[in-house]
Amino acid sequence: MTTIRLKPKKEENVLRFHPWIFSGAIQSIDGRPHEGDLVRIVSHDGSFLAIGHYQIGSIMVRILSFEDVPIDRAFWQRRIRAAYTLRRAISLADTPHTNAFRLIHGEGDNLPGLVVDIYGSTAVMQAHSVGMHTVRQTLAELLIEEVDGLRNVYYKSEGTLPFKADIEPHDGYLIGNASDCIAVENGLRFHADWLGGQKTGFFIDQRENRALLERYANGRSVLNMFCYTGGFSLYAMRGGAALVHSVDSSAKAIELTDRNISMNFGSDPRHTSFTADAFSFLNDIKDSYDLIILDPPAFAKHRDALHNALQGYRRINAKAFSQIRPGGILFTFSCSQAVTREQFRLAVFSAAAQSGRSVRILHQLTQPADHPVNIYHPEGEYLKGLVLYVE
Ligand code: SAH
Repeated sequence: MTTIRLKPKKEENVLRFHPWIFSGAIQSIDGRPHEGDLVRIVSHDGSFLAIGHYQIGSIMVRILSFEDVPIDRAFWQRRIRAAYTLRRAISLADTPHTNAFRLIHGEGDNLPGLVVDIYGSTAVMQAHSVGMHTVRQTLAELLIEEVDGLRNVYYKSEGTLPFKADIEPHDGYLIGNASDCIAVENGLRFHADWLGGQKTGFFIDQRENRALLERYANGRSVLNMFCYTGGFSLYAMRGGAALVHSVDSSAKAIELTDRNISMNFGSDPRHTSFTADAFSFLNDIKDSYDLIILDPPAFAKHRDALHNALQGYRRINAKAFSQIRPGGILFTFSCSQAVTREQFRLAVFSAAAQSGRSVRILHQLTQPADHPVNIYHPEGEYLKGLVLYVE
């Protein structure tokens, strides 16, 4: 196995269990590892620090273990078991009203580069590193062995593996074959479209925030902007909203929203959907709504896009503040990892100030417990939300 020696003092981050080694910390590499290979990290004086997957880029190693143990089938099994134990400890893995949960959340489960979502009897697995891609079949077999009732593993990594790595992953079933699956979340039913949909098919991470929205929906006129599968819309409907408008620029997303609404509510006349761009739709809504959800895609995928992202959050929120009905409630989110909680709050603050309205924070939201944040890797906290009361 290749050994990577760090520069003097650069072991400090590793000793604090941070799971990434940046290229700037590396003194020397003995050999020529391929992307995805296991490598040993040693300090400048040669003492063992960690084992991880080698990759090309500014993060050069994603650490798998801070102990000198073999990274074999038994290792992966221990990690998967630990992740599953956590989900059972928080009562997510076996409830009748929810069959969709995140089983493995990358660094949050000490498995950097791997994401696994469970939908009933199917796991949808995403590799974000070549190292995880390499062991995908072993991981799939272990998932079937470890997770009660699991029969299928779908691999979905065409869009998530680093394109520079020059491998051509194919999305498809590694084990089993399920054609259509219904995700059940707090008793609401969704088509989880992992074959065609974004991410692993459905945004599980908004589960608790949607449930909170349901509590505020009664009698309100709701605008669900960036609706994708209609998640927030379904909860608003069940919460007794007077009307619900769902908007997304993607026709496929709107089709999915319509299917999900009719699966749960038939042809309930309270709901209408619109294929439209958010920024132009918000231009002329006047004061039609008193509950607005803004859950845009990650405006900043990388740090260099940060400035534009913050502008984007400010612009979209300013539009909502200027038009929401007095006494209205705004649920506003950012899922960009590169945007901190403070930066997001500041962007929303600027937008509020621009509108001149009186705005108060009712709730500060984040990702749910099945998307845990490794305390040594604060970068893992990516979902930020504010619930605001606008006079
Ligand atoms: N709120 C959703 C997730 C939103 S994902 C949920 O609870 O599941 C972001 C969505 O924004 C995607 O469906 C994407 O198609 C849509 N989108 C991206 N840019 C947009 C734009 N400019 N206007 C409207 N929708 C947009």
